[in-house]
Amino acid sequence: MGHVVGRHAVVLGASMAGLLTARVLAESFERVTIVERDRLPPGVAQRRGAPQGHHIHALLARGAQVLDELFPGLTAEIIADGAPAGDLLGGIRWFLSGHRIKQADIGQPVLFPSRPLLESAVRNRVRALPNVRVADGLDVVEPSTTADRRAVTGVRVRGDDGDITVIGADLVVDATGRGSRTPLWLESWGYPRPQADKVHIGVCYASRAYRLPPGALGSDALMLHSWHPGQPRAAGLVAQEGDRYLATQVGMLGDQPPTELDGFLAFARSLPFDDIYRAIRDGEPLGKPATFQYPANVRHRYERLSRFPAGLFVIGDAVCGFNPIYGQGMTVAALQAAAFGDLLAEGRLPTSRRYFQAMAKVVDVPWEIATGSDLAFPEVRGRRTARTRMVNAYLPRLHAAAATDPSLGAAFVRVTGLLAAPTSLLRPDRVLRVLLSRHGAASHGAGSVVRPPADQPAAPSSRRPAA
Ligand SMILES: Cc1cc2nc3c(=O)[nH]c(=O)nc-3n(C[C@H](O)[C@H](O)[C@H](O)COP(=O)(O)OP(=O)(O)OC[C@H]3O[C@@H](n4cnc5c(N)ncnc54)[C@H](O)[C@@H]3O)c2cc1C
Repeated sequence: MGHVVGRHAVVLGASMAGLLTARVLAESFERVTIVERDRLPPGVAQRRGAPQGHHIHALLARGAQVLDELFPGLTAEIIADGAPAGDLLGGIRWFLSGHRIKQADIGQPVLFPSRPLLESAVRNRVRALPNVRVADGLDVVEPSTTADRRAVTGVRVRGDDGDITVIGADLVVDATGRGSRTPLWLESWGYPRPQADKVHIGVCYASRAYRLPPGALGSDALMLHSWHPGQPRAAGLVAQEGDRYLATQVGMLGDQPPTELDGFLAFARSLPFDDIYRAIRDGEPLGKPATFQYPANVRHRYERLSRFPAGLFVIGDAVCGFNPIYGQGMTVAALQAAAFGDLLAEGRLPTSRRYFQAMAKVVDVPWEIATGSDLAFPEVRGRRTARTRMVNAYLPRLHAAAATDPSLGAAFVRVTGLLAAPTSLLRPDRVLRVLLSRHGAASHGAGSVVRPPADQPAAPSSRRPAA
């Protein structure tokens, strides 16, 4: 244990943000209690409070690094438990802006655990911490406060029997996700609510699990078919532990992919490249399909509040929920938890202002990536800065050039993996490569397609003939 900052901390929610927060608080508090509404499964299983677990859940390369810092050896353990792994560029078949990206190993490992496997591994590590207790089957009602509402003193929880009890704490962290009620609580206590920045996207997910013949994805562990203006459909197919594959298809702006088999296949076939369709069409579907609707990117600007009760903190999706297609949520939660740990390592509780500024700093770049990419679609409403317009005009050209130039593909996937800053794509040498590339120069914006060159690797992609 590092510096003792307090005696008892309570974390609301035992999903990724809550578990990782408990891990860092355990360094600075004598005791940490995680309160969770679900009865948590003992092993790897889906649960009601994490319905996203039925869909492809990418752990970005940066997220894997932070998890290993918080729990040494965790990713190796998950791979030993059966999670497929591969190279960020060499092991993933990327389709971006209508181009198949040239694959090449870049020495950046990534792993593809299912969400239940990853969450279960993290939960086991947290449960093993001697000063952390997981109190599941408890519904958070509201934090308790001092009479003048200036400070939080614990949390009121409701058990299965309906009885309400108060758990006293020096510190309460809200990690209850997108449905967080902190803005409502603040209002009811006489504080201003944080401003919520929203970018509406109307994203609709549909997923099915499959058993596929060996080698169905060639040597790749994941195929990712991204969307672009004029083609607002995306899909992924990933190998998972337990000899299964998970296919997730996503529509934007209210386009819900069908779940029944024929409709699901037809959606896959409607994509510019039919690799996912060809991989699943003869597969054996397993279990029931799942859907999920994600209306908007939402960022709560807690860092702009001038008054906030002492002892209350907010983390994870409760601060900012991103369009899930970019796979950022768990990595951002890990980075936020690590940033909280850095503040606590100073030996005292940070002020609310300092804490929320640190959270905002973590969120800034992923928010820019997610909303900036979404704003490439003319139908998505929001403020487009000159920079957003410039980047959205440049990226399709970069993707086109990356169809033959792995150095550009590597630069791009390192940015989306949150390993490198978006500005790295604008490095003069890279801009020059894009401009000099036959394909990059020929690409007149998103939606134009350069056919894969003849030297493209083994598993051929076929483009759907234009309608
Ligand atoms: C469809 C979809 C796909 C996604 N894909 C990816 C991806 O590929 N990669 C990625 O990194 N992220 C992805 N995400 C986001 C990712 O799941 C979250 O960012 C991540 O789980 C961190 O969220 P969180 O822990 O803050 O909140 P959540 O995961 O929403 O967890 C909140 C927790 O709080 C509990 N809770 C809520 N209310 C109460 C209450 N009143 N009392 C007690 N407990 C309560 C819930 O049961 C739950 O356990 C996806 C999300 C969705 C919806």
